[in-house]
Amino acid sequence: MSDCLFCKFVNAEIEPDKVYEDDDLLAFRDINPQAPTHILIIPKRHIATLNELEPSDQALMGKLTLAAQKIANDEGIDGGGYRLVINCNSDAGQSVFHIHMHLLGGRSMGWPPG
Ligand code: AMP
Ligand code: ZN
Repeated sequence: MSDCLFCKFVNAEIEPDKVYEDDDLLAFRDINPQAPTHILIIPKRHIATLNELEPSDQALMGKLTLAAQKIANDEGIDGGGYRLVINCNSDAGQSVFHIHMHLLGGRSMGWPPG
């Protein structure tokens, strides 16, 4: 997707503040952090929202979750705790339409989210 910001990160047209990369995934720091640790983990393949996931994406999304676990450990927030969030469409406040998992941690968080 030529007009997708996160695809530009994947293609290195724009350099994000990268914290992790493998064949399928990229992770980088959020530009507007909502917690001391706020990292976005994305599949390299363009998938717009959770609604577009297919059964064949099962392993990819599992990999995404395990990458979040590893990054939380690397960031030293695994013991204290962290939150993983994927927003889907307008009611959830999705603003970039390339699936991304937010990894938030380093502070105590309230529930329910706003
Ligand atoms: P969402 O609202 O769930 O779609 O999340 C989109 C996230 O992307 C927000 O937390 C933004 O702060 C973040 N974001 C937008 N532009 C950039 C950028 N250039 N680099 C890093 N994060 C970004
Ligand atoms: Zn994209």
